[in-house]
Amino acid sequence: MRILVSNDDGIYSPGIAALARAAVRFGDVRVVAPDVEQSSTGHAITHSRPLTYRRTPLGDVDAYRVNGTPADCVALGAHHWDKVDVVLSGINFGPNIGNGMWHSGTLAAAKQAALLGIKGIALSTPVNDSEPDFDRLQPWVTRVLDLLLADSTLQLVNVNFPTNPRGMCWTCQSIRQYDGVVIPGKDPQGRHVFWLSVEPVEHTEEGTDRWALENGYVTITPLSLDLTHHAQLIDGRRRDPLDWP
Ligand code: MN
Repeated sequence: MRILVSNDDGIYSPGIAALARAAVRFGDVRVVAPDVEQSSTGHAITHSRPLTYRRTPLGDVDAYRVNGTPADCVALGAHHWDKVDVVLSGINFGPNIGNGMWHSGTLAAAKQAALLGIKGIALSTPVNDSEPDFDRLQPWVTRVLDLLLADSTLQLVNVNFPTNPRGMCWTCQSIRQYDGVVIPGKDPQGRHVFWLSVEPVEHTEEGTDRWALENGYVTITPLSLDLTHHAQLIDGRRRDPLDWP
């Protein structure tokens, strides 16, 4: 099995090293990741300048750093390595759940894989006061890969590991509330500045990724690339077919 590993925290993140270590048990691993952090860049691609890559030492793994986004890295990695079976992205510093998924560069790398017809799996974990303990997560990462790599029906999956997992759950995306918030402040010159940040959501619905993560479960959310609201499409066509032939 050919496993391409990427992320959005950059190739020097301990999270990608941990993911590559877990992945080598399952097949041939190659790391292609951004040369600097690209968190929250979403699914941006670079088209107004050329991309380059450089070989980078990363343990025993074949690794390359790219001056581009997570999606660029997967596009370039899949271009240079025939028949990639799966793209793993992460392990991200910080959860990727709920509506935050729209901004996630970690998830974008997995989505880029799915767009290319390759299975894509995004993996993330919260960051508390200390750095994530990837040694503690390692058995859970292995269990997740055991499950998801064997399932040929899955296209795109979003996974989050709590700090201390006590189990794993299939979950849906929490869409009840958007936790993006603008926090105003002042710079040293007294000028207005604004931080885009997040605010904790008080109520979470059972069965969602947010709920499972808060309750100590590894979240496994199967995703689809189709953004169409099918019920509203049918409804719209029924009410007024417009110029449909
Ligand atoms: Mn990140």
